[in-house]
Amino acid sequence: MPGFELINKKNELKQIKDIFDNGCVFYRYGFEKKRNNIFKVKEFEDRFAKKFNSKYALGVTSGTAAIRVALSVLNLKRGDEIITQSFTFVATVEAIVESGATPICTEIDKTLNMDPSDLEKKITKKTKAVILVHMLGYPGHIDKIKKICSKKKIPLIEDTAWGVGAKYNNLFLGTHGRMGTFSFDYAKTITTGEGGMILFKNKKDYLKAKAWHDHGHENNPKFPRWEDTRTSSGFNFRMNEVQAAIGIAQLKKIDIILKLHRNNASRIWKKIKNYRSIQQREIPNKAIPSCDSFTVIFPSKRLALKCREILNKNKIFTKILPEALTWHFSPKWTHIKQLKKNTPKSFKKSSEILSRCVSLPIFCKMNQNIIDTISSSIRKTLS
Ligand SMILES: *Cc1c(COP(=O)(O)O)cnc(C)c1O
Repeated sequence: MPGFELINKKNELKQIKDIFDNGCVFYRYGFEKKRNNIFKVKEFEDRFAKKFNSKYALGVTSGTAAIRVALSVLNLKRGDEIITQSFTFVATVEAIVESGATPICTEIDKTLNMDPSDLEKKITKKTKAVILVHMLGYPGHIDKIKKICSKKKIPLIEDTAWGVGAKYNNLFLGTHGRMGTFSFDYAKTITTGEGGMILFKNKKDYLKAKAWHDHGHENNPKFPRWEDTRTSSGFNFRMNEVQAAIGIAQLKKIDIILKLHRNNASRIWKKIKNYRSIQQREIPNKAIPSCDSFTVIFPSKRLALKCREILNKNKIFTKILPEALTWHFSPKWTHIKQLKKNTPKSFKKSSEILSRCVSLPIFCKMNQNIIDTISSSIRKTLS
């Protein structure tokens, strides 16, 4: 889960103070003299791109905005379809709807991510992109999905809101597809309060998204901003300097956050792996997850609910599974009419597996007492 555990005055506040010591410019563009040429959003983008071996990064106001801005690159028309998975946060589908396209969802498999065989079935002539989500920081079968997309020449976008720093096949999540989007909301692995980032493979996509996220501004060096050139319309999804200042401090902590997450997930698994009837979600061989949460699969829905009850009694709270599907499972989104028309009411395969899952949030700081309580709660559930 959270970089918020590690926010302090020494790092995050020092970065903000830097803005106050240099003209208090909160805006990402212009005012070069007043700000002594200090540009926090630009610095955060450069550091982020470098950290994840990508060439182009664009900071935006949220993870939801990141998906919407990424889609602005694709020249979508009404009637175009974009495929994502049934188990995701509602934001993925909202961004598709806001872009004017029609969302289509696939089943998930035992990785709890997109089922490649269902993706293949749902691709039509209208499919303009696939958005793969790495739910709770664990990748699915990326190779298979990449192969399907490249065969059909459909761009792949990764919603990496939960997967910052995770890897698959030695490449960071968010750099497998044409674009990768990230969230820095308060519950994500690193946080700027609200914020997001997009990584791009191509310069052309980057420039188009950069203009669109800023009313079409091309930042033409030949003109002052108020006479700037433009070729497209756009919107305002600009990140501000204070968000980016916090982001710079948080990014410097990511290796330690991930190390603690992975270590705590493995402490839990070591303690419970001998309980024969439970499983972990499937993790592909080439995957190194960020371990935002740890998901246990029970043999039945009844046991999953029982486990949650016992955990809650012991003041340990589960994350999303099994309780929060309202916001994370597409059959529940009957309020989104674009989705209602195009997706089946029941996702049988997805429902069956999700109803048996219990997901535990992973923190940086988890004392032995918590690990022991998780283990004894699961033992009690199974007894
Ligand atoms: C958090 C999240 C988002 C949205 O990010 P915000 O920064 O909260 O707008 C998008 N997709 C997924 C899968 C998420 O978990």
